[in-house]
Amino acid sequence: MSINIKETYYKDITDEQWNDYKWQFKNRVKTLKELEQIIPLTEEEKEGIKKSFKDFKMAITPHYLSLINTANPMDPIKLQSVPQDKEFYTGPFDLDDPLGEDHDMPVPNLVHRYPDRVLFLITDQCSMYCRFCTRKRIVSDGSHQVDKTILSQVVEYLHAHKEVRDVIISGGDPLFMEDEKIEEVLKALREVPHIEIIRIGSRMPVVCPQRITDDFVNMAKKYHPVYFNTHFNHPFELEKDAEIALAKLADNGFVIGNQSVLLKNINSDTVIMKALMHKLLKNRVRPYYIYQCDLTSGIEHFRAPVSKGIEIMEELRGHTSGLAVPVFVIDAPNGGGKVPIQPNYLLTQSPDKVIIRNYEGMVSTYIEPEDRNCKCSTSAQFQDPSKKSNVGVANLLNGEHMSLYPHYTDK
Ligand SMILES: *Cc1c(COP(=O)(O)O)cnc(C)c1O
Ligand code: SF4
Repeated sequence: MSINIKETYYKDITDEQWNDYKWQFKNRVKTLKELEQIIPLTEEEKEGIKKSFKDFKMAITPHYLSLINTANPMDPIKLQSVPQDKEFYTGPFDLDDPLGEDHDMPVPNLVHRYPDRVLFLITDQCSMYCRFCTRKRIVSDGSHQVDKTILSQVVEYLHAHKEVRDVIISGGDPLFMEDEKIEEVLKALREVPHIEIIRIGSRMPVVCPQRITDDFVNMAKKYHPVYFNTHFNHPFELEKDAEIALAKLADNGFVIGNQSVLLKNINSDTVIMKALMHKLLKNRVRPYYIYQCDLTSGIEHFRAPVSKGIEIMEELRGHTSGLAVPVFVIDAPNGGGKVPIQPNYLLTQSPDKVIIRNYEGMVSTYIEPEDRNCKCSTSAQFQDPSKKSNVGVANLLNGEHMSLYPHYTDK
């Protein structure tokens, strides 16, 4: 039988304390001694918790802990938050920095990989440390906080890079910082005139929804357009408190997206993913990405095969609202960036037609127009020579080149 953690272990805690994120942060469960009083643990988990001290710490908010079904040893909330001994196994292809982020950092904490947007890591702390975290190498060690010096270097870089129009604030979890610190960052970014949108990536609505306070939304909305990307992986994570947090963000004009990670035995299942996508939409959250697990050391036990992700996509597209269909991506190792993966719908093509199939298996012919040249009269008004796409396959389409060569191929 499952016990209600909030009503047993936390029975003396008032609602006021429970709903205060500072209480939640301060009372995060960080030791084996504490955790074993609250939920039953396997030997594998006890070993994992002991070893995690050295490296990628354990920390679980009382809120997130209270979502665990104690009767299920494979509970999806527990699997995401409680270390296992398996974390200390490194597979033959595992990497510390699987996305090559350190390589793409022109200034500290800033990753500039794509032509027009940057990723700004403002802290390495989180309220809960997800055991499958891709940025384990930096997260939780406490030495990657943004300070005034770094912030001014980043702003200087952005001023000099007029092609950047989108800044993603991430970490760690940026909302682990105090509002005043976050505001310093938002304000500094808004002083760069060519920054069009700001995105905040945070798992707080999932692991500590109490953090989405009126003060926070009232502060952040001054810097609109601000997009808010969160990270739900399982329908059980989206309960009452999370709903309140999401409503607060939506009511205050934040456009909310969600990215999930495909996690073996947690959400590697079509019916679970579909239920999650529907629940997100009901809360005005648009599913954005499903990520294939990166090749981060120690997360082999979380990796589902790519084929499982494709199967999930097959059972979403067409079967349910298009709004419920995110893009499934592999973030290619060594800085390859996000690559979308989906079932094949284009069966074949000839100069005058394409043959396509739909989700039901119906195969159709779509006839191409006779005159296939396209020429928009307003195109010149949108062309900025400094922003001409000169990257990748787009180069072949615009006629600049005939081939692309990997740098190690002799031309
Ligand atoms: C994911 C990511 C982005 C944002 O990519 P979008 O596809 O625009 O959401 C930007 N920079 C880096 C380094 C990223 O990993
Ligand atoms: S919230 Fe994000 S950065 Fe923090 S541990 Fe989880 S996945 Fe990693």
